[in-house]
Amino acid sequence: MRATVIHLEESKIREVANAGMGRSDVLAFWFGESDEVTPEPVRRAAMESLGRGETFYSHNLGLPELRSAIASYTSALHGPIAADRVAVTSGGVSGLMLSMQALLDPGDEVVAVTPVWPNLTAQPQIMGARLRCIPLRPQPGGVWVLDMDALLAAITPSTRLVIVNAPNNPTGWTLTRDEQRQIIQHCRTTGTWILADEVYERLYYDDPSNSVCAPSFLDLAEAEDRLVVVQSFSKSFLMTGWRLGWLVMPAEMTHHMGKLIEFNTSCTSVFTQQAGIAALQHASEITPRVVSHLQVCRDALVPLLQALPGIEVASPRGGMYAFFRLTGQGDSLDLAKRLVREAGLGLAPGNAFGLEAQGWLRWCFASRDPERLVQGVQRLKTWLGV
Ligand code: PMP
Repeated sequence: MRATVIHLEESKIREVANAGMGRSDVLAFWFGESDEVTPEPVRRAAMESLGRGETFYSHNLGLPELRSAIASYTSALHGPIAADRVAVTSGGVSGLMLSMQALLDPGDEVVAVTPVWPNLTAQPQIMGARLRCIPLRPQPGGVWVLDMDALLAAITPSTRLVIVNAPNNPTGWTLTRDEQRQIIQHCRTTGTWILADEVYERLYYDDPSNSVCAPSFLDLAEAEDRLVVVQSFSKSFLMTGWRLGWLVMPAEMTHHMGKLIEFNTSCTSVFTQQAGIAALQHASEITPRVVSHLQVCRDALVPLLQALPGIEVASPRGGMYAFFRLTGQGDSLDLAKRLVREAGLGLAPGNAFGLEAQGWLRWCFASRDPERLVQGVQRLKTWLGV
């Protein structure tokens, strides 16, 4: 087996979850998903598809109806995007891996903004690329910020790809439009590709103009810019288990992406794609409800955490996570395991997302019943003895 694969680090989130899964006395907030099932019209569309006997392969790039529905949905949010720039993928994570396969040769230099969901830094390593991480920095009060000068200085003509996930898992950090503009302009001069993971774009809470999503690179980029945007049905449509996502890329790239999809998964199952079409048809009912509920959850959890002594936590602008640190605690992984064992509370360890997040913990607040969050805080309080 390849040494790279043998030496791949296992997910520390899984390590904690494995220690507590199946224990009914643990309140689990470790994974990035809601405990609410996918909305009924979406499930119905999949069942109807199976009822019609749609059990065959589809086009590598996805059903034409789904690609054009995605193009319309994306265009409504970000300005005109043609369907020939869209590929349907088996989840956001497959879209990310396909993008890495399309862009990275062994030895290529990749810059990634961290902390970030570990898959985004493991995948370039699987491709044999050289990874350089540019850390966000926590400010007093728990807000994480980007040192833009450090990022731009790290992106040189030898940088093949820069990976940015905003709104960010785990910190909730979000890029501003101006920062996106600077990154695009800089990458045009260095010839660097941008891989923008925008799967949390709709989970965005405090936009004074009340617009419907976080700033996207698609709002600013030209169609031919070296930009690939990764998207997912998982978060905004409560569809984690379906494995459905999409990519937006320059039109010249789409055909080649189709070849990679052929050699990876060939296509996404048709009933899943039909569910995706239904999700987009119902987007204006589903997503605002999901987002306003998540905001209720965020606002139930964060003030309770902020009220605890020795906790540093900011209310995130985007995403579905409260990211916090407890003063006087050491290694996140040890801490998360102790919390499972001793408090019956399941959280993700911050150091799963990058070295700079050592000592931090991530709490997914996507809970159907916000009372679960309150119970979780009570367990933390009891454990802390406050
Ligand atoms: N990107 C980020 C930043 C994520 O947090 C996730 C899910 N945790 C994904 C991509 C992938 O989501 P999915 O594969 O379920 O579409």
